[in-house]
Order: sequence, then structure tokens, then C-alpha cells
Amino acid sequence: MLISVPMNNCVFSVRMRASCQDRHLSGAERLVVESDAGAVLAELSLRALNCPGGPPDTVHCHLERIDATTVQYERLPDLSTYHVKDWQEGRRAARALLVRSGVRQAVAACAIDLLATGAAGPGTVMRGAVLMDAKSGDRLETDAVRGVRVSRMDMTAKCRSGLKEQLAMLGLSHPRILEAMVLSGKVLRAPGLIAELCWSDARDYTTGYVADPENGYQRISTLKPVGDPLGGRVFFVDRGVCLLEELVDYLERQAVLFDTSGSISSTRQWVSNDA
Ligand code: AMP
Repeated sequence: MLISVPMNNCVFSVRMRASCQDRHLSGAERLVVESDAGAVLAELSLRALNCPGGPPDTVHCHLERIDATTVQYERLPDLSTYHVKDWQEGRRAARALLVRSGVRQAVAACAIDLLATGAAGPGTVMRGAVLMDAKSGDRLETDAVRGVRVSRMDMTAKCRSGLKEQLAMLGLSHPRILEAMVLSGKVLRAPGLIAELCWSDARDYTTGYVADPENGYQRISTLKPVGDPLGGRVFFVDRGVCLLEELVDYLERQAVLFDTSGSISSTRQWVSNDA
């Protein structure tokens, strides 16, 4: 929707979050010109009311004006997909990809274990992401339940429609992929960010990914058993090259709009020497 800086120099960040009995059900983020803000707000509200696992008992919708000249324009990460035979192999693949990106082996294993057991405490998922020191494995986020929430990002309408078409040709039409790519694309541009690990807490969505600035967004066909309600995100950080406050400020506040897509490769079988 936003292609160039609008006349009034402002865009709106539109955010939606739906929950039921404090359990997160659905969330979405958009960056739009003022004239589209109302329609997008209505679209996201409707989506919240009809979300899987619903109906929600609470829906928060948030509109915030942003100076359009501060928006950072970027290219989306490249996308690849590894097919693994089961979630155990998926986790081995995730560990190998994390190690290739510069995360220490023991730290990668610890992060996988953390998401598998509950990053906000045993059996409990966080609302945002873990920030983890890629060398020591220390957790750096100040609130281990909320974590760090990446916000204020989107892609242009042109980029979205082109990407949707490319993904559909490869049978990758799940809306989660577009949203995760935007989130991950922003994360990968963060100062000091080495890699990201993610799998969903949705019981029926078992695909996850490892992303890093060099290899992009690498989907792994399954990272958990069907029915498992746990999941989350871990951002691995090199503390030697960034100030934590600057990193968190970028992740939570900097507006980033993707106007170009990356390359998209067809699915291939994981083989252990891939990483
Ligand atoms: P999802 O892929 O939406 O199922 O989210 C998986 C996990 O990622 C959630 O359980 C949260 O821990 C985390 N998460 C979701 N949205 C965000 C966000 N905007 N920023 C950081 N972490 C998030």
C-alpha cells in the first residue's frame, strides 16, 4: 500500500492482538498510509474475531502515527525449505544451521531445549522472543514472560502480491510464511544479530525455521510433534558488536518496510552435511 513517502509525511502502524483467558490467539502488524488505516484496522479486527482457537475474549487494536521519513526500506531475506523426516531430525538440522551461523553448539542445543520445554517457565510460552548471547547462552531480555516484541514492520502491496504468487507456485500459500518472513527480515537487519530460531506454539503448525543474515530464512518442515502447544522465538546476539538497548529499540520501534523480495528455492531434503 505504501510505495513512496506520502504527501502528509505520515504512515500508520496498525497492530492487532487477540487472546482468550490471557492465552495469545492471534496477532498481526501492518504499516499503511493514512487513507488505508481504517480498512486495515477493520480487516485485522475481523481476523481476530474469526481466529483459530477463538473466539477471543479480548482484542487489542492499536493505531500509531509514524513519521514516514523514518521508515527503513529493505529487501526480504532469501527463502529455502528443508524437508526432514521427523521433528527429531528437524531439531538436529536446526542445531546444525545455528552452529553454521556462528552460534556455539552448546548454546544452540540449550535454545532448542528451552523452546521445547517452555521459555517462560515449564510448559509456558512467552509472548515475545528470547534474546540470547550466542557465545555464553545467557538470556538478555529483561522480562522472561513478555520477551522482546518485534513490531512496526510490513511489506508493500506490490512486494506482497509478487511474493504470494511465487510462493503459491511452490505450494507455499500459508499466510504464516509471509508474516514470519517479514518479522524475520526485520530481525536479520538488527545490529549484532547472528541468527533466529522459531517454531510456533500453535498445536497444528509444526514447521519452523532458522534464519541468519547470510543464508536467509531457512524453513524446516517439522520441528515439533503435532499437538504440542509449546514454541517460541530465540534471537542470538553478538554482544561484542551491539548495545543491548539499541538492539531492543530497533526491534521494537524502528519502522521497516520491505519493498523487494529475496530469492525463493524449492524444497530439498535435509542431509546432515548441508550445514
Ligand atoms: P507464532 O509463529 O505467531 O506462532 O509465534 C511463535 C512464538 O514467537 C510466540 O509464542 C512468541 O513467543 C513469539 N512471537 C510471536 N510474535 C512475536 C513478535 N512480534 N516478536 C517477537 N516474538 C514473537
